[in-house]
Amino acid sequence: MNLVKANKESITKASQIIKTGGLVAFPTETVYGLGADALNPLAVAKIFEVKKRPSFNPLIIHIAEKDWLNEFTIYNDERINLIIDKFWPGPLTLVLEKKNSVPNIVTSGNPTVAVRMPNHPVALELIKQSETPIAAPSANKFGHLSPTTAKHVHKYLGEKVDLILDGGKSDVGVESTIVHYDNGNFYLLRFGGVTKEELEEV
Ligand code: AMP
Ligand code: MG
Repeated sequence: MNLVKANKESITKASQIIKTGGLVAFPTETVYGLGADALNPLAVAKIFEVKKRPSFNPLIIHIAEKDWLNEFTIYNDERINLIIDKFWPGPLTLVLEKKNSVPNIVTSGNPTVAVRMPNHPVALELIKQSETPIAAPSANKFGHLSPTTAKHVHKYLGEKVDLILDGGKSDVGVESTIVHYDNGNFYLLRFGGVTKEELEEV
């Protein structure tokens, strides 16, 4: 059985799976994610395979600390830091110019990468222990409903995932808001857990 309660032991086991190129489903505050080492192209390829996700649909990478952002993206605008300070950890994804450290399979060949810091203790601990950003779309087959429980993940993806960490029900239940920063301008790409009004305030 690949479904286990998230605790110190199982999170450490999950981080070993991530480090060795496997797939781990884990809870975030939005929905359950299907995660792999974002810096390992073969591991990321498994996400696309299991989800039957088209390869032109880029992934969000999840980080555990705000300053990891500088390792993977390039930007020079104080407003980005204001947004991060206000909304991270939380359901806000930033699309920024990527560094070469991010494999092309993650971004579907785009020169930009989507990054977020989830507000969930299990997700944060898993990413920290894995010592790498985790690429993770929702843990469902392409075109199906996003899962908010571990059981739901198990029902639809079953044994195709190496380990499913059960951390209870995701409480936002809606996807992250996505903001694309390009050349001094901000573009709202997807409505989600953070509202347009909250963003405009910052
Ligand atoms: P999800 O399907 O919830 O994992 O969210 C991934 C979504 O983030 C994609 O479908 C895109 O809409 C968006 N996204 C991810 N990376 C990028 C990127 N580099 N540029 C623009 N949008 C992106
Ligand atoms: Mg999804």
